[in-house]
Amino acid sequence: MAHDGADAEKQDFIREIIREDLAGGKHERIITRFPPEPNGYLHIGHAKSICLNFGIAAEFAGICHLRFDDTNPVKEELEYIRSIEEDVRWLGFDWGENLFHASDYFDQLFDWAVALIEAGKAYVDELSAEEIRAHRGTLTEPGTPSPYRDRGVDENLALFRAMRDGEHPDGAMVLRAKIDMAAGNINLRDPVLYRILHAEHPRTGDRWCIYPTYDYAHGQSDAIEEITHSLCTLEFEAHRPLYDWLVDNLPVPSRPRQIEFARFNLSYTVLSKRRLLLLVKGGHVTGWDDPRMPTLSGLRRRGFPPAAIRDCVERAGVAKRDSVVDLAFLEHCVRTNLNRTAERRMGVLRPLKVVIENWPEDQTEQLEAINNPEDPEAGTRTVPFSRELYIERDDFMEDPPKKFFRLAPGREVRLRYAYFITCREAIKNSDGEIVELRCTYDPETRGGDAPDGRKVKATLHWVSAEHAVAAEVRLYDHLFNRPDPGADGDFLDDLNPDSVEVIDAQLEPSLAEIGPGGRIQLERLGYFCADPDSTPERPVFNRSVTLRDTWAKVKARG
Ligand code: ATP
Ligand code: MG
Repeated sequence: MAHDGADAEKQDFIREIIREDLAGGKHERIITRFPPEPNGYLHIGHAKSICLNFGIAAEFAGICHLRFDDTNPVKEELEYIRSIEEDVRWLGFDWGENLFHASDYFDQLFDWAVALIEAGKAYVDELSAEEIRAHRGTLTEPGTPSPYRDRGVDENLALFRAMRDGEHPDGAMVLRAKIDMAAGNINLRDPVLYRILHAEHPRTGDRWCIYPTYDYAHGQSDAIEEITHSLCTLEFEAHRPLYDWLVDNLPVPSRPRQIEFARFNLSYTVLSKRRLLLLVKGGHVTGWDDPRMPTLSGLRRRGFPPAAIRDCVERAGVAKRDSVVDLAFLEHCVRTNLNRTAERRMGVLRPLKVVIENWPEDQTEQLEAINNPEDPEAGTRTVPFSRELYIERDDFMEDPPKKFFRLAPGREVRLRYAYFITCREAIKNSDGEIVELRCTYDPETRGGDAPDGRKVKATLHWVSAEHAVAAEVRLYDHLFNRPDPGADGDFLDDLNPDSVEVIDAQLEPSLAEIGPGGRIQLERLGYFCADPDSTPERPVFNRSVTLRDTWAKVKARG
């Protein structure tokens, strides 16, 4: 289990219940579970559930199961199973031996369904899905019983076995619990327990052509695994009476308690696998791990450290009411982490050539640069300085307005870790665009200070043109251009057409050696992460976040 240090005892209503249950002797050991359906990649909302379930298990010396809720073979794939395992581990959690699948229980679930039928508490219904919906009633009107509701036990048993034996096509009939068609809670109006699906399952192959529904499989899987606290999101609150009815009416080995908490939502983001799948399938992103995606694989590729994601979802808290976390807060957590952990480097995103006229033609000097001012252990490195350099195009103005303190004709600035330079002339091409600056340097200012005490108002980053490595840099913006995508129609209409910009940058030579996944700060530009596409010949970097912290500003304003 990963921890960022000795954190204080966490307080929330779920942990309070658990403390009571332990103190009162209701349980000796806590068992939680994270139950993903393998129908897509995990996203940052899942991270909340993972941190809560695995976190609680660790804090209370219990265990947390990873259970694949694989009851719908039509939408599930092995690719998703592999990605989920990888992402949970990457986030810093380990299920050890405790890997389970709802499909492990298909035999037991079938036997219990037979027991329900025998007890007169379930029946086979031949109404179509639409008819069942129409019979269900509304919030204000009771449902209407199906004409098949009062079949005899033997007929039900024979039909249910025929369903299992593949004698009926998809949709021909379902098994329903016989509870109460007039119940105020619609979930209790004879919910469907089994449906026919002639589909190959990733784990059980073609052994089954009937599959349990979520409501039937989930609580019983919890009970089989002796889960003590089954934590799920608020939309399942209305399902809790059904969850309880099933464990009360079946000979299950334990009685888990379902507790609901609010989903994690993020502004400028969609967090539903169905929508994320549409983004992937529609080619709106390059894949599930596109660095603009809120998936854990996308955030990893973007360069977000797992500790920052844990920090964000934990600080968002465990609540009973839904809310939306500001994307700026997530970015703030990422910056806070990377400020401590990422080494500083120099690189120029939009290069403008600078020639130091009084620097000897073939001379290169190695200057010492600090790797991380926040971490003395990170040490120093050298960066080469020579006659031809690149600086950022934005750091020069021919005719600067009052508040522009960077380079301009006749003005002196500091080059980080190097010298003071003064701009003597801006060279233009035939279109009048500035293509080169002619400058001089002051040899007395090596390291960045003038012995005569004179000051400059700006320090610029730079790279040596001869030594720099050309790299592809991908700059990202929000994937959606409104905080609540889809609030007024199709969420795809809210896609930001400018969510990625690819540029050719010039980076200091040490950056050629950073392997995929390596995270650095480019001074003054932001935090960057080497992409899996990166090679020493052609480094590729993703910008994780800029340096400007809009969240800190929001907080400061109160
Ligand atoms: P989605 O709505 O994104 O498709 P889901 O709930 O269908 O997600 P599951 O694979 O069933 O996805 O989720 C596994 C677990 O993660 C469940 O316990 C679910 O409640 C939890 N979970 C999913 N999304 C969130 C979220 N946004 N915030 C907190 N927990 C979540
Ligand atoms: Mg689900």
